[in-house]
Amino acid sequence: MKAAVLNKIGARFEIEDITVDEPRGAEVLVDVKGSALCHSDLSVSQNDYGHPMPAVLGHEVAGVVAAVGPLVGGLRPGDKVVGCLTGFCGQCEECVSGQIWMCARPGAAARGDDLPPRLSRAGTPVTQVSGLAAFAEQMLVHESNLVKVHDDVPLVQAALLGCGVITGAGAAINTAKIRFGDTVAVIGCGGVGLSTIQGAALCGAAQIIAIDTAESKLELSRRFGATDTVLASKDDAVNAVLDLTGGKGVQHSFEVVGSPGTAKQALSMLRRGGVAYMIGMQRPGTELVIDPFADLVLRQRSVHGVYMGSTNFKKDIPHYAQLYVQGRFNLDDLVSQTIGLEDINDAYDDLQAGRVIRSVIAF
Ligand SMILES: [Zn+2]
Ligand SMILES: [Zn+2]
Repeated sequence: MKAAVLNKIGARFEIEDITVDEPRGAEVLVDVKGSALCHSDLSVSQNDYGHPMPAVLGHEVAGVVAAVGPLVGGLRPGDKVVGCLTGFCGQCEECVSGQIWMCARPGAAARGDDLPPRLSRAGTPVTQVSGLAAFAEQMLVHESNLVKVHDDVPLVQAALLGCGVITGAGAAINTAKIRFGDTVAVIGCGGVGLSTIQGAALCGAAQIIAIDTAESKLELSRRFGATDTVLASKDDAVNAVLDLTGGKGVQHSFEVVGSPGTAKQALSMLRRGGVAYMIGMQRPGTELVIDPFADLVLRQRSVHGVYMGSTNFKKDIPHYAQLYVQGRFNLDDLVSQTIGLEDINDAYDDLQAGRVIRSVIAF
């Protein structure tokens, strides 16, 4: 099958033929229909996070089940599914209490060393980054990486549910548990940030301040529920948020850019007792300087790291899909363009230049 292969860190993706094994045990072979270009795969392709090369990336994905292994219980060929990188064991304390995104043994979804690799090229193993490897015509994954969705959801839009949407909306709904009437600021209005805004709106936040350096993204943010916008290339984001909140600051700030400067801003724009949620993928080794007394103790603020929007995706992704079908959840405006697999490098250039929210590879 064809896949976009990363042969070394910092290289472009190359379209190559690789071999995918058959599903064994609780594995599922999926015909990929929509595979979105998330910003974090760009980070993984440019910075060394320790993944052996060659590798196939891609983790925002939806498709149709092609074949199942003998131990698969909940899925059948023909089912529409969304993939999620939080594969889980189902046995540990976190899993049995419903917190599958914190699973103590996420490696349980990987294939054991006693078996041949799921992906290979001329007999050499090819790494499945995030356990999915969705920049390919097919993907072979553990059942715990998939969830079935409503038949009426188009799979290009459904792909976004697997990472960006649950990461953003989940941070607002599950992690921050925003209450009716709360005040919110979101720094960075790409796919994740817009989803955070949409999640905050679903929770009934009174004020949702969108912050970005691109006017086009701020304009788009209003379609997801932003009540105010700040153009950070023109105005100082912290001062602007203080101005918009009568000098108080917000109760919840979300850092979705992944830079130490915006992380510090997220903390500085909080009102007394507020929480800054760190979502953006910071470069490995990045340090954030915090004055514990002035920044945290005196103002009773805190900083909270968020992974995958604290989402039990098996439960929440079907809910989001249902809301979309009911016309109550916007996925359409997150899809900037559909592309072919061979367009992946150009589309990542578009993402890096801020020209698109999401490009989705349609198969
Ligand atoms: Zn577990
Ligand atoms: Zn992602």
